[in-house]
Amino acid sequence: MVTKPAFFILHSFIFHCAVVEFRGENPSGFKMMSTCSLVAESIWQAIESTRSVTDDQLSILHFIYGKNFERATRIFDQRGVKRISGEPSGRSIFQVVGESRRKEEYLCFAEHYCACYSFFYDIVNRGEELCCKHQLAARLAASTGTCIDVKVSDEELALLLSKL
Ligand SMILES: [Zn+2]
Repeated sequence: MVTKPAFFILHSFIFHCAVVEFRGENPSGFKMMSTCSLVAESIWQAIESTRSVTDDQLSILHFIYGKNFERATRIFDQRGVKRISGEPSGRSIFQVVGESRRKEEYLCFAEHYCACYSFFYDIVNRGEELCCKHQLAARLAASTGTCIDVKVSDEELALLLSKL
């Protein structure tokens, strides 16, 4: 599934991270992140800077996040990510549709939190995944600039947040 150049980039990056960690050259808490998170972070930044995603980048993200990334791309393809921004503050949160027939929506922060069951069970409790499919869908939509933008007042945003 992952093409040769993608694997080469991935492996050389992991090697680089390992060397940097080994030498203790990371003063800023950077060292605490796992190598996979570091690789993923560099890919996300590359996507954000070009506002587009290549097949190699998709392959690497799939390699890192597994099935959750596949699920996230399905949500992304059906434009299931809204970014709700409060005005005038500009603060925002994502609202991402689920995959079940009920089409429930989950509030999430792409990097830190999701209100879904899987976030608490697989990520917080068992530590088996880096993030859930809603977070990944949100990150993919945000970094490619394809979220559905919804503006609300700061009061309405506060009300949404109070329900988390
Ligand atoms: Zn979630």
